[in-house]
Amino acid sequence: MSAGYITTSESERYHTSEECPLFQRGRRGNEAQGIPPRPIVQLTPDEARQARQTRCPECCTSEEPTI
Ligand SMILES: [Zn+2]
Repeated sequence: MSAGYITTSESERYHTSEECPLFQRGRRGNEAQGIPPRPIVQLTPDEARQARQTRCPECCTSEEPTI
């Protein structure tokens, strides 16, 4: 298991995994609008800390990057 996060280039948030309900909702929302799914970007905790995205309140509550 590698610690890290996932996001997409269009996402405002990063998540601990693709299983996150908010992430899944976003994917379905795009699909409903006919927007193709964005490629998933893997982030290390370090990268997540420096990314413009903010951590997801749903899945990142217990695994926030150490600042
Ligand atoms: Zn999430």
